[in-house]
Amino acid sequence: MRSPKSVLTRRRLALALIAGVVAGGCSSPGAQPPAPNVQVVDGPVARQLKASVSDAGAVTHLQALQKIADDNGGNRASPGPGYDASVDYVTGVLRAAGYDVATPAFELPRKRGREQGTARNVITQTRTGDPAHVVVIGAHLDSVEDGPGIVDNGSGVATLLEIARHLGPSAPLRNTVRFAFFGSEESGSEGSTSYVNGLSTADREKIALYLNVDMVASPNGGYFAQGGVGDEQSQTGPPGSAAVAGVLAGQLAATGVKAEAIKFVGDDETPFVDAGIPSGGAENGDRKDKSGEQAQAWGGQADERYDPCYHKACDRLENVNRVVLGHYLTAIAGTVAYFATSDQSILR
Ligand SMILES: [Zn+2]
Repeated sequence: MRSPKSVLTRRRLALALIAGVVAGGCSSPGAQPPAPNVQVVDGPVARQLKASVSDAGAVTHLQALQKIADDNGGNRASPGPGYDASVDYVTGVLRAAGYDVATPAFELPRKRGREQGTARNVITQTRTGDPAHVVVIGAHLDSVEDGPGIVDNGSGVATLLEIARHLGPSAPLRNTVRFAFFGSEESGSEGSTSYVNGLSTADREKIALYLNVDMVASPNGGYFAQGGVGDEQSQTGPPGSAAVAGVLAGQLAATGVKAEAIKFVGDDETPFVDAGIPSGGAENGDRKDKSGEQAQAWGGQADERYDPCYHKACDRLENVNRVVLGHYLTAIAGTVAYFATSDQSILR
């Protein structure tokens, strides 16, 4: 059962106010507004997690995913053998870290009139924290057919694995943390859609928020936070989304980079948004060019694409920018730890 409406409204209003008040200050003349920047004080879980995750740790996962692609025709597309091997790799890392892992299969839509069978998502969660208030962090585990997908989205997968491994399944949390690795994002967010649609209403309502991580290590990457910006709910996410983006932006600011706010464009967050779940997103940009102003603020090359290898065969290990990855990894670890230990009043 959903909480009484008045309570929800009050909480969401409070969230909007928090985000709005801290957002203040002057806005830059750039194309994107600065993301609302919610400064939070790190508790012990956040401090420990942020200190223990490292881009070097994440890169070991990227190396493994690169090898999987090399051994399977150069990609990890879902469905396919490179994807299946990616599922096995992620499952193995999580089990070795002490997690119970589920790999629920989902039905793939027919393609060119032919049955495609099923593919798997990978789902795990902490044993600690209130399971009636679940913080879900997700990344798509598949690549396009044209390349190994090491930045898109090996970088998101490696971020989640590094956080999961260092958080551990029994961390002292107030709210449960669930890690989700979705299949078939590149063909229309099929894994995430099947996952959310397959949850009972009660289980959907236990999800306090969703944080999507998709491309966080591009060679000329920027720093963007999704949630709360746009003209309609598919772009902004439901009420509460600005607070998720705001904490992410605050955590990015603590690493020394000022994030810009951008709209959701229809990735794995879509089914969560459609289910009314407050959502945020971390992504560093893909096919567009970095502006002169952004290059000045963040480094990198002006008037060059954020990721010249986006959806290409060259999206390999050599494409990874460890500086961008390091900022996001620390910031996402801080964001997850914050919501996992936060007072329930900030969650829906
Ligand atoms: Zn992607």
